[in-house]
Amino acid sequence: MTITKSYAAQNATDDLAPFTFERRAVGPHDVKFQILYCGVCHSDLHQVRNEWGGSVYPMVPGHEIVGRVLEVGSHVEKFKTGDLAGVGCLVDSCRECDNCKKGLEQFCRNGSTGTYNSKDKHTGGVTYGGYSSEIVVDESFVLKVAETLPLEAVAPLLCAGITTYSPLRHWKVGKGHKVAVVGLGGLGHMAIKFAASFGAEVTMLSTSPSKELDAKHLGAHHFALTKDPEQLKSLMGKFDFIIDTVSAQHNYNDYLQMLNTDGVMVCVGAPPTPSEIMAFSLIGGRRSLAGSLIGGLPETQEMLDYCAEHNIVSDVEVIKMSQINEAYERMLKGDVRYRFVIDMATL
Ligand code: NAP
Ligand code: ZN
Ligand code: ZN
Repeated sequence: MTITKSYAAQNATDDLAPFTFERRAVGPHDVKFQILYCGVCHSDLHQVRNEWGGSVYPMVPGHEIVGRVLEVGSHVEKFKTGDLAGVGCLVDSCRECDNCKKGLEQFCRNGSTGTYNSKDKHTGGVTYGGYSSEIVVDESFVLKVAETLPLEAVAPLLCAGITTYSPLRHWKVGKGHKVAVVGLGGLGHMAIKFAASFGAEVTMLSTSPSKELDAKHLGAHHFALTKDPEQLKSLMGKFDFIIDTVSAQHNYNDYLQMLNTDGVMVCVGAPPTPSEIMAFSLIGGRRSLAGSLIGGLPETQEMLDYCAEHNIVSDVEVIKMSQINEAYERMLKGDVRYRFVIDMATL
């Protein structure tokens, strides 16, 4: 057991504050690593504030984790002390069901184990995430991280990266496709980078006029302000694929109508409240509305390797651990360019 420093939420309303707990001893298949950086995902905020329900306190959030290996168990093959390592949203699954066998651990029939706020079979308690000094994870759920990229900018790939990479790959988005990204935050900026890298023509759909220049720098070919009805109208029937990363309730029908014949819109954003969908938004043009959840372990490694090869990282603002509550407030206002990452040395 190791005493581990962290920041935790004690309930849905108070600020996160320092908290100490014990990590399990390193088992034969475990990797223990010192956390150097942890990204701040909007899902952390949803869960800290119990917006999705089911939150357990104290909660140590954080699922965009990178660091250096301190110790490995006797049966560990992929890692040795001193290696870089990463952990995303999952730390375990049954590994036996059809989905696990296909590398779709996020859809484990028996329930995958989240990096935080999940039942922890080792301790009998709850899992604690990456706003902490170190972590112990079974090597099957630890990712290899390249030495060549800036580590703080790699951290967000573990959630924002894979969550946007996976649906773009699943729906085979590439050259000749017109793609729209809705919402320019952590997920949105990675969606632009991947879609552009795969050869698509990318349009950013944003509520923030101040983000236009950034969107273009990130690789978007066009920018439209969704608050302007005239701009919305000009986009009707235009896109083959839309990826919606918006964190709050909004009108999906506005975007569905922008799909071309047989177009697909994928929701990755997870607003806590339901929205109405008009059948007519789908019927005309045989359009599809779909969803996607992070990505499995093999695809997460594939994405990290792709990023290393193509020099793709997140655009980050590095913060101190003590700035986390302020960062949440800024994230709520859409004021993040484009991912907060905590420097864990400040814990
Ligand atoms: P984020 O950085 O806060 O970005 C969300 C963006 O959505 C904002 O920057 C803003 O962009 C736009 N937005 C916010 N409120 C809006 C509103 N009322 N109407 C229209 N647009 C609005 O959040 P994130 O970390 O990228 O996460 C986005 C969502 O994805 C969250 O709900 C999160 O829980 C979810 N998520 C899902 C998965 C998955 O596996 N499916 C994984 C990770 C996260 P503009 O300023 O450009 O409008
Ligand atoms: Zn996330
Ligand atoms: Zn399974």
